[in-house]
Amino acid sequence: MIVLVMNAGSSSLKYQLYNMKNEAVLAQGRVERIGMDSSIVTHEPTDKPEVRQVSEILDHNTAVRKVIDLLTHAEHGVLKAMTEIKAVGHRVVHGGESFKQSTVVTPEVKLEIRKLFDLAPLHNPPAMMGILAVEANLPGVPQAVVFDTAFHQSMPQESFLYPIPMVLYRRHKIRRYGFHGTSHDYVSHKAAEVIGQPLKSLKLVTCHIGNGASCTAILEGKSFDTSMGLTPLEGLMMGTRSGDMDPAIVPFTMNKEDLTLSEVSSMLNKHSGLQAISGLSSDMREITDAMKEGDKNAKLAFDMYTYRLRKYIGAYAAAMNGIDAIVFTAGVGENSSVVRKAVVDGITFLGAELDDARNDVRSKEARFISTDASRVKVLVVPTNEELLIARDTYNLVKTK
Ligand code: ADP
Repeated sequence: MIVLVMNAGSSSLKYQLYNMKNEAVLAQGRVERIGMDSSIVTHEPTDKPEVRQVSEILDHNTAVRKVIDLLTHAEHGVLKAMTEIKAVGHRVVHGGESFKQSTVVTPEVKLEIRKLFDLAPLHNPPAMMGILAVEANLPGVPQAVVFDTAFHQSMPQESFLYPIPMVLYRRHKIRRYGFHGTSHDYVSHKAAEVIGQPLKSLKLVTCHIGNGASCTAILEGKSFDTSMGLTPLEGLMMGTRSGDMDPAIVPFTMNKEDLTLSEVSSMLNKHSGLQAISGLSSDMREITDAMKEGDKNAKLAFDMYTYRLRKYIGAYAAAMNGIDAIVFTAGVGENSSVVRKAVVDGITFLGAELDDARNDVRSKEARFISTDASRVKVLVVPTNEELLIARDTYNLVKTK
């Protein structure tokens, strides 16, 4: 079965086309600058040269049509006809409390996703545009939605509630939801496979550290706690996001600096984190390069970033009353051996011991980076959220 995976943002649309017989990627690509003049389409068929086109794509509907045209194009395509696409899976950021797992799109599901626009105003509306665009361009093709929050719906109340008036939870559903669920879910299964033990028997801390970053405590195969909260701002220090801080900083800064709510929100989401402390970049590569040149602010940003990661791993080891493995994934987690070393070398008391040679190997394979004697296993597992979306979509649709 051919499954198309879509990840729609406000001005972008990423896609991957899978043949589920062998889970092979037939093509992938992205449409950027939707709604702006000179949109850019990058199409990468697996066995053919990459295509890059600049054209005017004013909405998601036109973007989806463009993707289908490219997938079925005589020269650049990988399909003979669009009827070969048997299902489409969408990444949806916020599933609120309504969605505890992936589901097939129905009119009721669409209504429910609309109700969640309030909780994810930047993310859920474009996902809905993607769903409607597929409906218009591939009529009758079943669609599924896979939520970033769904994996974390297993958290117990003591993890997901904030100690603020309960009326805020009852009225507005203010609670911890957590994000990157598809990734934490995927890497935890892969890690258990590599360790060679049932996932249910393991206590894991998975660290998804990319531009956005979150840690999850996984107990008996389920999310027990996670560092992102109501929004993806809480938790670890990130590229441009602050992560945890005293909430009183918000009113205090608004008062002292005469900032509006939207200005303070933009400060914490877009002008904080690595970017703010280094004064240089939100990109860990640039931070570590500058550190090597002796840049003190870059070093401080790096130290704060890795210190906060260590604190979360320690906290989650305590939360689960033990830890069997630490898993690193996403851009920084998969690529930055110096970040991994700074983190693991600082938590040896937990029983984690890094093998420096293994840590320095670059590979796309899931692998151990701890020593054979290390009681707590440390792994790097490349994430693959698209594959998990394709699998969920396939499993939901094949029985229909
Ligand atoms: P997103 O959260 O947008 O999906 P990614 O998971 O792709 O992001 O992570 C992007 C980040 O990964 C970059 O900002 C960069 O800091 C980091 N990164 C990528 N490659 C390396 C590398 N070789 N060394 C250190 N950091 C890297």
